[in-house]
Amino acid sequence: MTKHVDYLIIGQGLAGSLLSWELIKQGSSIYLLDNQQENASQIAAGLINPITGMRLVKSNKLDTLLPCAKLTYKELSQFFKQDFYIEKPMLRILRNEKEILKFQQRTQDRSYLDYLETELKSATASIRAPLGIIQQKQTGYLLTKQLLACLKRFLQENQCYQASQFNYQELHFDKGISWQDITAKKIIFCEGYQAIYNPWFKYLPFQLAKGEILTLTAKQALAPELLNYGHWFIPLSEHQFRTGATFDNINLNINPTDQGKNTLLKALIQVMPMLDSATIDKQQANIRPTTLDKMPLIGLHPEHKNLAIFNGFGAKGSLQIPYYSKRFVQYLLHEHPIAAEVSCQRFF
Ligand SMILES: Cc1cc2nc3c(=O)[nH]c(=O)nc-3n(C[C@H](O)[C@H](O)[C@H](O)COP(=O)(O)OP(=O)(O)OC[C@H]3O[C@@H](n4cnc5c(N)ncnc54)[C@H](O)[C@@H]3O)c2cc1C
Repeated sequence: MTKHVDYLIIGQGLAGSLLSWELIKQGSSIYLLDNQQENASQIAAGLINPITGMRLVKSNKLDTLLPCAKLTYKELSQFFKQDFYIEKPMLRILRNEKEILKFQQRTQDRSYLDYLETELKSATASIRAPLGIIQQKQTGYLLTKQLLACLKRFLQENQCYQASQFNYQELHFDKGISWQDITAKKIIFCEGYQAIYNPWFKYLPFQLAKGEILTLTAKQALAPELLNYGHWFIPLSEHQFRTGATFDNINLNINPTDQGKNTLLKALIQVMPMLDSATIDKQQANIRPTTLDKMPLIGLHPEHKNLAIFNGFGAKGSLQIPYYSKRFVQYLLHEHPIAAEVSCQRFF
């Protein structure tokens, strides 16, 4: 029997999941296919860090994106009756004179005061920080894997999830758009890095970046704060923590490597020497769907208006996806325009 839906969504990473959630909330019918490979969302640290980089810059559109992300994760927590977003301060270790200077400049700028404590903190017994530590506010991390598991169950219970590879040659354009026994008004591709194999969207300028991440257990009790020292440290429980992530835009595969592991351990032990006896529980690797201009890729194919893409969230999926899911749904249902800076039309 043929099944008719408004939107066929390809990919159940954070992008496909939150877009499906928004569409369902707005009364659309969806059907989602996922090939069930471990994806970037499942292994990501899920960090939301409003101020990033050596120049301590506020993320683009932060004042819009962050409240929307917090609200969405709160709504999902209420619905599934479990917490997904853990808000915690982040200590950032200053690494050079330039960063100290930047910090001093930022503390004079009122627009940064919601995100930065103005007082420098000194090193603690467990953290090496000869140049001092700054404390960032409104930082936290998303338990993405747990959230995706809940959303998958929700979709399954509503008979709109299928574990399947979407094969491009099986798509038919004759009467509307159809794949196997499903017809849809539109197909929305949320394929993460695998978009580079998509015949309609592979021409977009993805600049993928592999990342590796470690989960470890320490003998001693851990400090409760998030830590940023070029890489980051996330305490998950009293003894277990994660550290990551490497950034490699040459070796684009999902294999964990000794080089990745050693890079992360070396950086960690430099700032917290007492963790040199921690044992590795897990090493994971995946690929971030990063783009040439570091902005998302959202919108319709220029010729096939029933094919769309929702992708390119790079290293900032947790912060960006909630807001852009809502915006894209506004576009799909009410034709509210997509901002030029994220529209995929900028590259066609
Ligand atoms: C090591 C690492 C650490 C990271 N840390 C952070 C962080 O701290 N904070 C943050 O915000 N972001 C982080 N990211 C980035 C984050 O993971 C991404 O921004 C986000 O997860 C992208 O989600 P997505 O849904 O677009 O892609 P994905 O999560 O990759 O999901 C795409 C899905 O589509 C499926 N798929 C693809 N093609 C097909 C097909 N043809 N048929 C069926 N299914 C298909 C895939 O199998 C997958 O399930 C990190 C990434 C990595 C690798």
